[in-house]
Amino acid sequence: MTTTPNPCDLLVTGDLVLTLDPQGRTLTDGALAVVDRTIVDIGPADEVSPRWVPASSVGGSGRIAMPGLVNIHNHTPLMITRGMIEDIGFAPMYTPGIPQGHWLTEEDAYALSCLGMFELLRAGCTTVVDYYRYPQSCARAAAELGVRAVIAGRIHDAAPDALAAGRYEYSRAIGEASLAENAKLIADWNGHDGGRIRCDWAPHAPDTCSDDLLREVGKLAETHGGNVHTHLSQLPLEVDAVRARTGLTPPQLLDKLGLLNDRLIAAHCIHMDRPDIELCGKAGITVAHAPIGNAKGGRIAPIIELREAGARIALCTDTFSGDLIEAMRWAIAMQRINRQGTVLDARTVLDWGTQEGATALGMSDRIGSLEVGKRADIVLLDNRSPSLAPMVDGYGVLVHSASGHDVDTVIVDGRVVLSGGKLTLADGAAIVTRAQAVASALWKRAGRSPLQ
Ligand SMILES: [Zn+2]
Repeated sequence: MTTTPNPCDLLVTGDLVLTLDPQGRTLTDGALAVVDRTIVDIGPADEVSPRWVPASSVGGSGRIAMPGLVNIHNHTPLMITRGMIEDIGFAPMYTPGIPQGHWLTEEDAYALSCLGMFELLRAGCTTVVDYYRYPQSCARAAAELGVRAVIAGRIHDAAPDALAAGRYEYSRAIGEASLAENAKLIADWNGHDGGRIRCDWAPHAPDTCSDDLLREVGKLAETHGGNVHTHLSQLPLEVDAVRARTGLTPPQLLDKLGLLNDRLIAAHCIHMDRPDIELCGKAGITVAHAPIGNAKGGRIAPIIELREAGARIALCTDTFSGDLIEAMRWAIAMQRINRQGTVLDARTVLDWGTQEGATALGMSDRIGSLEVGKRADIVLLDNRSPSLAPMVDGYGVLVHSASGHDVDTVIVDGRVVLSGGKLTLADGAAIVTRAQAVASALWKRAGRSPLQ
């Protein structure tokens, strides 16, 4: 008996489909049908394809389909410092002699955010957490290029010029302005395009925010819902400053102010002692682990200990690259150096870059794996890339050998936003040229003469 095929918006096929579903199914010659942004059918192509009449099709022979990657901590306008900051300092906000966030105009931030969103999509990141000054520029870039994004402002009341000179001077006016900016972002952008853009609250760090400001953000976030994004125990400077100001470690301070809980996504978590690790684990925070950033600073976060204590681990590239696959294998390598042994494996870090990030964001019912009922956020890799052979279990060669450049096509919310490595909704070459011009002008202001 044959049934009449139904119309669907998109049919995705591939030599392999890595579903990353709870059963860990990998389909050979698989297919997915998409209706109204959502996966409605998945299985062997010879079973799925006859059931549907697609409005369009992508994939086919030579493609591997997998869930879109979830990159859980970035500041795309800060890409202005990459390629330089790595060798002259660590966290840009604490470093003199480089372009600073408060020098940017809103249009500068937009130009740089477009560059960042382009690179992230190019490397298969379909969901991106991004927060910085002029957050509406980040939201606009993500909206226009088709990225799923969680956007927030950069809340702080430490004066940036004093901070770059090594002094902590708290200003009520700066704190109120950054709160107002985040509130306006939420009013203007939260829920945009069927929820593709979500907005949260993001206090910069326990040392760059006073106790009063952190308390205020905690109250606002409680009413708003979503996550609170921050940096935690990133630098010895931060730990020393918080201890001098409050007598507490940074996690102890956030705990006292009501922010250390399972809604907190805390980047770095490097400089933590055993009691800090236990406290963060017990609170069930998510660590936004940035292994490449850790390595560039010569430090390694104790993520295995944090995970054993109860914390969730998710992955990020934290601005300096968009390649989360590279970050996955760095996460493994860093811990093996740290622990002097074969700890972690490809499937574990692949989960950190997909399902664990989705769960941390409260989106595990929508993204993180390829399953019926989830949004169609799908990456197609080039199965003919030399980096992807030999394909044995599907996970090992992907994590240990592939890179973001093996990504050919990216689908977000059922819409093809990258095809053949090129953006479909914007001019990628123009984005790079515009961002270079912005960066050159700001580096000139910082006293450098950029190559042209
Ligand atoms: Zn950061």
